[in-house]
Amino acid sequence: MERYPVGLVPGPVRVPEAAAARYVEDYGSPDLEGDFLSLYRSCEAGLARLLHTENPVAIQCGEGMLALWGALNSVLAPGDRLLAVSSGVFGSGFAEMGRALGLEVRLLEFPFSRLPDPEEVRQEALRFRPRMMTVVHCETPSGTLTPLEDYGRIAREAEALLCVDFVASAGGAPVRVDDWGIDLGLLGSQKCLSLPPDLCFTSLSPRAREAVRLRGYQGYDALAPFEEARLTGAFPYTHHWRGLAALRQALDLYEEEGQEAVWSRHARAAARCRSRLADLGVALFPEEEAFCSPTVTAARVPEGWTWEALDGALRRRGVVLGGNYGPLAGKVFRFGHMGTQASLPLVDRALDALGEVLAKRP
Ligand SMILES: *Cc1c(COP(=O)(O)O)cnc(C)c1O
Repeated sequence: MERYPVGLVPGPVRVPEAAAARYVEDYGSPDLEGDFLSLYRSCEAGLARLLHTENPVAIQCGEGMLALWGALNSVLAPGDRLLAVSSGVFGSGFAEMGRALGLEVRLLEFPFSRLPDPEEVRQEALRFRPRMMTVVHCETPSGTLTPLEDYGRIAREAEALLCVDFVASAGGAPVRVDDWGIDLGLLGSQKCLSLPPDLCFTSLSPRAREAVRLRGYQGYDALAPFEEARLTGAFPYTHHWRGLAALRQALDLYEEEGQEAVWSRHARAAARCRSRLADLGVALFPEEEAFCSPTVTAARVPEGWTWEALDGALRRRGVVLGGNYGPLAGKVFRFGHMGTQASLPLVDRALDALGEVLAKRP
């Protein structure tokens, strides 16, 4: 496996040394020692501060997708209605997941280069009356960030639970779970928190906790056991002590820097990335700059290039960016400036290399 000095993959992002060091230390059995429960509670409190919520935050073993499956399974039974609001690959992915679980799914899809329209979402929610609606905050493949202020009110008007995937935004962009009325808020460790892909986090409002209790779903991704476990330490499986030690470290680094400072570091990295792309004549994928996320920038593969050729030329200069998925594969490429990678020098090195590559047309 080759190593690239300039890594701007939109997750997993580079792990800082202080957090990586926690993975080689030995700890006791999380099932038997009270220290683990104290660590869990301290991480939960740190995540709640980061997300601006009074709600409990379940910390599960598994990559970010586990939080998405866990939210659907823990609340919805086959036949229940799910409204999947989408302006991208992850938004539409919720509809596919829901169908696989036997839910009655309505997919409300907007162009991937734009944002969902809250009024259209409201109308559809009032017509369809879903048990849950899913919204994606940062559509990582599209490089967009959807303002969430309207969706809590819409969900309440339609008597639905609001489930938000903020896996690629929380930490790097403002997320206010309580102010925005988010019932289930989903986060993973490998994006803005700059940890390996081994933990995921779900905030649960009182309404969501009641729904989870009524559903009584059991499974590896189940949220129900965390209601008790966070108080008693009786987790449903041997938890990941090293992962939580690294999470505590990541939260310490975050709190030392200060949330406002972290948010502005992301905003500056993103603005630099966009302005340097404009200088090179490379078009952004989102139709308006106001749609762009501070954590990831998506641009169109320039005319005359294939993504494979561009990626190869960049890698020869030590730069690795993100390719894409689904309908965006081969057409849109991405700079993941989140967590440790929200860095002006790193963005500059990537854009310097891109400038050199584009100056020598293939
Ligand atoms: C990264 C990410 C996830 C987790 O999915 P993976 O592709 O498996 O890393 C979920 N939702 C969003 C929006 C993400 O960016």
